[in-house]
Amino acid sequence: MTLSNLKFINKLKTVDNLEIIESESDVKRLSKDFYNYSPILSEKLDGCIADLVVRPGNHSSVKKVAEICWEFDIPLTLRGSGTGNYGQAVPLFKGVVMQMSRFNKLEDFDPETGFVKVQSGCLMVDLNKQLEKYGRELRLLPSTWKTATIGGFIAGGSGGIGSIRWGFLRDPGNLIGLEAITMNEKPELLKFDAEESEPLNHAYGTNGIITSLLLATDIKHSWYSIVIDCTELEKAIKILKTLTSAAIDLKLGAILEEEIVDQMPRWFKSKSISHKILIQSTLGGIKTIDMICKKFKVESSLLGEEEKLVNGISEVVWNHTTLHMRSRDKNWTYLQMLLPQNNEFELINFLRKKWGKKVLWHIEAVSQQGSPRLAALPVLKWNGVEELNEIMNDCKKLGAFIFNPHVLTVEGGGLGVVDADQVKAKLKFDDKGLLNPGKLEGWAIKEKFNI
Ligand SMILES: Cc1cc2nc3c(=O)[nH]c(=O)nc-3n(C[C@H](O)[C@H](O)[C@H](O)COP(=O)(O)OP(=O)(O)OC[C@H]3O[C@@H](n4cnc5c(N)ncnc54)[C@H](O)[C@@H]3O)c2cc1C
Repeated sequence: MTLSNLKFINKLKTVDNLEIIESESDVKRLSKDFYNYSPILSEKLDGCIADLVVRPGNHSSVKKVAEICWEFDIPLTLRGSGTGNYGQAVPLFKGVVMQMSRFNKLEDFDPETGFVKVQSGCLMVDLNKQLEKYGRELRLLPSTWKTATIGGFIAGGSGGIGSIRWGFLRDPGNLIGLEAITMNEKPELLKFDAEESEPLNHAYGTNGIITSLLLATDIKHSWYSIVIDCTELEKAIKILKTLTSAAIDLKLGAILEEEIVDQMPRWFKSKSISHKILIQSTLGGIKTIDMICKKFKVESSLLGEEEKLVNGISEVVWNHTTLHMRSRDKNWTYLQMLLPQNNEFELINFLRKKWGKKVLWHIEAVSQQGSPRLAALPVLKWNGVEELNEIMNDCKKLGAFIFNPHVLTVEGGGLGVVDADQVKAKLKFDDKGLLNPGKLEGWAIKEKFNI
């Protein structure tokens, strides 16, 4: 340890209300997330471990950590629960990981607007329980909602259960504002309105330490889970599209190809393995769903109210599908994409013919800029980078938009372009570029060309 590091640690130890974790095994565990879904990321990130982890208990200790890291040029990487899939919370250049789990309070609820103000380290499961008292619920949930934090979801997630109705986290109207602490000589707590919050939304904590969020919520519904069996994938897609354009409330609409169904936990599989359409709707939607199923001559089963099920269908959708596949065989990895509008099956059919059972289809219904669309998280048998690139190129050629889960940067996994506002925010709120360094491509370009 260098003298400078020793001085740094001694200074951190003077901060009130700050838990410091130095045990090698804990620091290693808290430097990881679920990047191992990608063999490419695994190779890059396995050796990335922080020097230490801190858990601040109040705003003043967050500010102090930021100030000391700034003084000693030490990288600072934020962490919620570490359930991200892109190594978002993995420190590429050592330094400090700051886990926000002690920032877990619901601060305010406005019954007029349904807006909730909540601290960033609050688990979504706890937030939803507290919202229930006000007759409300979160609009959007990742399938990790039982373990993940709301701050980690906003800074690192994209959408999930509820995206069929509410789109994605970055769609206007979901995030109403936030509060964040800056990383400069004299860190400050700043308040951002909806527009000002945009550059910090899905920025992997590279341009501010989010301490609380103001979010729009939905009226609490009782969601009923329905499983529809279908022997043809093309027909399953038609049924899902018919359901998503019907005048019913939906929280979830997904399709799992039969070979995926076969690998799901035993409780989920029925006797007949077929493609399955998974739906969550309200009691008022069930009759319409039955009618649509009759028209298509397919069988549906009402499992009951999702919340009351021992194992709900929320546990086999979004990236939980990949989780279950990988628990059977670690050679499964995945892709994420928005399928081309109207000719989804053309793409799927082409890939089925070319790649056979190396690519299995998992589809999720989403709303994109207000229109019903289909996204896909196909699972792939890992067979090297070249094959992965060829599959992605096939998808792109046929009109899919890929959100590549095998890259480290905000831009690589997202829209693929630098968001100048994210970079500007970093310049303003993290002038030395110490927050989660290496994750914002736009910043690296700025540094390289000295802009
Ligand atoms: C099985 C599985 C299923 C998943 N399903 C979904 C899904 O349906 N939808 C989805 O979007 N994602 C999904 N994910 C990814 C992930 O679970 C979610 O994005 C989750 O919300 C992340 O929350 P977290 O608390 O674990 O964040 P972390 O992984 O700890 O952090 C995520 C990012 O946010 C940053 N961050 C955390 N806290 C702060 C803060 N206070 N201020 C600034 N930056 C911060 C971190 O630095 C990191 O870059 C899934 C992952 C797995 C493993």
